[in-house]
Amino acid sequence: MPTLPVRRPRHFASDNNSGVCPEAWAALQEVNSGHLAGYGDDPWTARACDLIREFFETPCEVFFVFNGTAANALALATLCRPYHAVLCHEHAHIRHDECGAPAFFGGGTSLHTIAGEHGKLRPREIDAAVRDHFPLHSSKPGALSLTQTTECGTVYRPREIQALSAVAHRHGLRVHLDGARFANAVASLGVAPADLSWRAGVDILSLGLTKNGGLHAEAIVVFDRELARDVDYRIKQAGQLASKMRFLAASWIGLLGTGAWLTHARHANTMARKLATALQPLKGARLLHPTQANGVFIDLPPRVIQGLHRRGWHFYVFEGETGCRLMCSWDTTESDIEALVADARTLS
Ligand SMILES: *Cc1c(COP(=O)(O)O)cnc(C)c1O
Repeated sequence: MPTLPVRRPRHFASDNNSGVCPEAWAALQEVNSGHLAGYGDDPWTARACDLIREFFETPCEVFFVFNGTAANALALATLCRPYHAVLCHEHAHIRHDECGAPAFFGGGTSLHTIAGEHGKLRPREIDAAVRDHFPLHSSKPGALSLTQTTECGTVYRPREIQALSAVAHRHGLRVHLDGARFANAVASLGVAPADLSWRAGVDILSLGLTKNGGLHAEAIVVFDRELARDVDYRIKQAGQLASKMRFLAASWIGLLGTGAWLTHARHANTMARKLATALQPLKGARLLHPTQANGVFIDLPPRVIQGLHRRGWHFYVFEGETGCRLMCSWDTTESDIEALVADARTLS
């Protein structure tokens, strides 16, 4: 057995560096009893799907997968043919962090990236991208993919998603939402999950609760049920069909069934706000994007960044040489923030 360090500090590198929250852990314990059918044909999986339908107040189709990359790539493959392009933000996770999975599972589907302030796309640019594409010779725009919360820690309001979906639908594009941090957006805006998804025109959603305290808590949620046909085969072919499915269902039961998803998301958002407020007055610090969810994006002087890294803090330099990303999680504490800020103050 390797020896683990006694002190297990929390960091700000990613919200997926956190462990499993007590509610999800308890649900994992609960489903871990007796023999039950595999591949999703069990009562726990049925319960988790029902909880997601209640969450969205609509009879959507739900499929569980192991990670967000699979959810995104398989959702987009469902919307697109090989000759299609997915319009997405230039910082999109599907563009930078998925090793070409959308193209691989789409059999050639390409990505068309669009710039936008604070990680957000605007209807005007979607319209322009569709109009400007060179007919027949470049990939045909087939889908719009949005990320909520965005890769810059900001959120789209329901009206913004509505406007973007309306433009996409007008041009015959389908709408995908990457909701790896959907809960943080719901917590930030205080609106119903339906208002940020199907009621705003989203056709298919990658929903993740892994970063919010779950374990492999990733789902493809299909609102336009026509699209759900054969998604199960795509999942199986991609090697994403869990045999012991009840363990993928457990986190959803633990988090959605108790309301913990909202408590944890609110907490992470609150911690990020506190962190942003405490770091901003430092000499040379400049907030790069509004802190609207659980991530702080801030320019810090190089000596502060290097000093913090030397003192053992984990976080990424995300934009340019000095644009730092500090992610807060369901288990980030006020004392974690105070400790980081104290070190930053000493160094500045
Ligand atoms: C974390 C994340 C995902 C999921 O990534 P996996 O590592 O494949 O689970 C997807 N989209 C965004 C925006 C993310 O931050």
